Amino acid sequence: MSTEHERETGSLMGEREADDLPDSSSAVDLPRIERAVREILAAVGEDPDREGLLETPARVSRMYAELFGGLHSDPRQHLKKFFTEKYDEVVLVRDISFCSMCEHHLLPFTGKAHIGYLPDGKVIGLSKLARVVEVVSRRPQVQERMTDDVADMLMDELGARGVAVIIEASHSCMTIRGIRKPGSLCVTSAMKGIFRKNEKTRQEIMQLIYGDRR
Ligand SMILES: [Zn+2]
Repeated sequence: MSTEHERETGSLMGEREADDLPDSSSAVDLPRIERAVREILAAVGEDPDREGLLETPARVSRMYAELFGGLHSDPRQHLKKFFTEKYDEVVLVRDISFCSMCEHHLLPFTGKAHIGYLPDGKVIGLSKLARVVEVVSRRPQVQERMTDDVADMLMDELGARGVAVIIEASHSCMTIRGIRKPGSLCVTSAMKGIFRKNEKTRQEIMQLIYGDRR
């Protein structure tokens, strides 16, 4: 990566801290997406020059730049600032909503992530967990990998004693096409460290996540 690029990315991130993601439209080839969308419209038998469709390729290109903006952002950057705390109980953030794109069909899957960790001296701001989910979800994704990646990242960056990530999502590739099962929910979990090794600790975190709603 060139120094120039790093400086650009750095300043972008600085200005847009509150927005989570850098303006990826500069890193995305919008005209190329526009040409591809026109091509798809023609291929399915539409007339891309019909009035209602004239702006569609440009609109879709901007939308893809937004939905895949996480490709140009490093989720780990949100885990670099931590507090040193003696707190040694579970930290859990439930119901972090997200929208991602299934990489097999390029259709959205939406749902919630629950992230818990048992710190070993390092504690991060709670909103940072949501930011990590935001960056990771704005990429072509597979729910299983997304779950595992978030858990691994937290283990690495925080040196936590354990991390538990559970993601529940509804996949439009299952609800609107193919097998067509509206209402179906895909649940994935990644248990690391003590949550993997210790049955009792794992039950505790599951109780915290689901206890009062099952
Ligand atoms: Zn799919």
